Amino acid sequence: MYRNYWLNKEWTYEDLLARYATKNSNTGCYEWHSYKSKKGYGVLRVEIRTWKAHRFAYTLVHGEIVKYQQVQHKCNNPPCINVQHLVLGLPSDNVKYMIRSGRRASTVGEKNGNSKLKVKSVEWIRKMRQEGWTILEISILYGVSKSTISEITRGSNWKI
Ligand SMILES: [Zn+2]
Repeated sequence: MYRNYWLNKEWTYEDLLARYATKNSNTGCYEWHSYKSKKGYGVLRVEIRTWKAHRFAYTLVHGEIVKYQQVQHKCNNPPCINVQHLVLGLPSDNVKYMIRSGRRASTVGEKNGNSKLKVKSVEWIRKMRQEGWTILEISILYGVSKSTISEITRGSNWKI
């Protein structure tokens, strides 16, 4: 339904803006004018994957993010894909419950096995520790070792 005809094209953030967004000069939002979800988020299909548009925009600019990490709107405007209006949010409590109960522990880790930690993730891992996530939970979510998480939270070898 959300077929994307640029399947062979490598996307850039600028492409996305030019093709699918209109600037709202009052708010500075870049508002998605193509397909939207019921909640008003832009959606698009890139190869076999359906993306929320704001999440795709964030990924194009900042690199791959962990599947369960939320990307939130500072402007409270769901169709907006202006990356300056987007921030990473904590994974939801449901995700925490899933990890804690062990039901998805292995698949979460495997899917992100090759993911490299980005600067933004480092920042966020520290916040998650302050919010009471355990080192084990975070290591499962990011698919990296407990010692890596522990080094990050101690601040050694990781500079922001
Ligand atoms: Zn906005």
